[in-house]
Amino acid sequence: MGKTIGIDLGTTNSCVATTIGGKPFVIPSSTGNRLIPSYFAITQDEKTLIGVRAKRQSITNPKNTIFAAKRIIGRRYDSREVKIAKDKLPYEVVAGPHGDARVKCGGKIMSIPEVSAAILLEAKKVAEGFLENSIEGACITVPAYFNENQRQATIDAAEIAGLKVLRIINEPTASALAYGQKRGKKNELIAIYDLGGGTFDISILELGEGVYEVLSTAGNTYLGGEDIDNRIINSVLEDFKKTHNINLKDDVMAMQRLKDAVERAKIELSTQTEATISLPFLTETSHGAIHYNTVITRNKVEDLMIDLIDQTIQTCKNALEGAGLKKDDIDEVILVGGQTRAPLVIKKVVEFFGKQPNRGINPDEVVAEGAAIHAYNIGSPLPSNILVDITALSLGIQTKGGAFTEIIPQNTPVPITKTRKFTTTYDNQDAVRISVYQGNEKMANDNELLGEFVLGGIRLAKKGEPNIEVGFDMNSEGILKVTAKDADLGTEQTVTLEAKSRLSEEEIREMKDKMSSLEVELKEQ
Ligand code: AMP
Repeated sequence: MGKTIGIDLGTTNSCVATTIGGKPFVIPSSTGNRLIPSYFAITQDEKTLIGVRAKRQSITNPKNTIFAAKRIIGRRYDSREVKIAKDKLPYEVVAGPHGDARVKCGGKIMSIPEVSAAILLEAKKVAEGFLENSIEGACITVPAYFNENQRQATIDAAEIAGLKVLRIINEPTASALAYGQKRGKKNELIAIYDLGGGTFDISILELGEGVYEVLSTAGNTYLGGEDIDNRIINSVLEDFKKTHNINLKDDVMAMQRLKDAVERAKIELSTQTEATISLPFLTETSHGAIHYNTVITRNKVEDLMIDLIDQTIQTCKNALEGAGLKKDDIDEVILVGGQTRAPLVIKKVVEFFGKQPNRGINPDEVVAEGAAIHAYNIGSPLPSNILVDITALSLGIQTKGGAFTEIIPQNTPVPITKTRKFTTTYDNQDAVRISVYQGNEKMANDNELLGEFVLGGIRLAKKGEPNIEVGFDMNSEGILKVTAKDADLGTEQTVTLEAKSRLSEEEIREMKDKMSSLEVELKEQ
């Protein structure tokens, strides 16, 4: 029988773990790396590179190196998030045939699940190489704030990579599982503060004996270490403009080198109070090359990032409110994600919660560890943990005037089935369009459209008379089934929502075939 694994598919880095004797174990690559950079590239001689090898050449091949794909997975091309990403990413983001966002790499157009599949394939390869065994299935983590489209796209990525998904679980829930295994058996309330490369999540959980119940979750899918890097980059660009009267923004190679140097300096500033950015031959002018050298202080970087960290604290307040708790109720604070190593983040968290965070957790690995524990649990005849997760975003439909009418509110435990009654808006209306949205905004259009269908054959009557029942059925992985019924006639329509921007089955099959040949190519490299 094959082994099960847990994969933390991160914005910046991914991590793969398994269990040995029921205990989590992070699997290192053949070169000893415990993290896989979430990078994918196609070189000039058409070689495909993934992980460390892709990241290493990103500076000289910025247009054909895809990173931070998680920022746009499951997003529509015309969404706000993709617009923001397009401005920041050195590679080209284009519209796909389903209105989805795709990327251009090595002259080819690729879907985002395909890029993520390559990272998952690398994780699978690392695991198979180390375990000398086939992989039976994987638990893959996603931010709690991922909507249905983003979850579905992640499942598609796994399918393309030829990985059987045992369960999609939320990152904070996975962290809680890993933490729960290490602690003694007691009841406690914990807060998981997760600040990674691209996203921020805060979750409040109640841990009992083997029971992990998520009470509330809140977050921002557009706030992470990369935003801090961008603040520093902008400050350097201003400085450069003042000194040399040159706008570096259009010099793709210089921007990549700068990005890399800035991130390294930021990381150094977590342990030092000053760091040097030294970039010889940064750009060429008619008078020759310009070398850029500067010293950046921790104070300066903290000034540039403080409002972002304050935003995360505000979100912590919302999450506590959502759980009906006060900050003093929290017994333990767990920090997850590389960016939580920054002293300012720790300081703000300590100030807010009034206690030191738990030190026994590795913020880069805890999510993968929890996913591995859950994968192991799913396969065991007597699962030792019960997870009760919640919906991070409200689910509902569009009603009169474009309003968003909630059917399943935010922070509802899943699985859940809920029904709400609606009616017609004009006389003799024989059909209604059910447009399903997910999000926490008041107007439907400000939320994510998950799918639409029409319920026809409604009893002809005066407006307001027919009884139309809309039922939402969400399973424990956050996958939604919607039913609409004319309660007077019994006519019913049931759909498992397929994201509008989702890949077709045929496309997935084709991409899977391509990925299998890539697997062979990678083995030969
Ligand atoms: P993750 O998504 O958890 O892999 O987190 C990656 C983010 O954490 C990136 O933005 C990194 O620059 C940042 N990061 C990693 N290590 C550190 C550190 N020691 N200090 C500050 N930020 C860090």
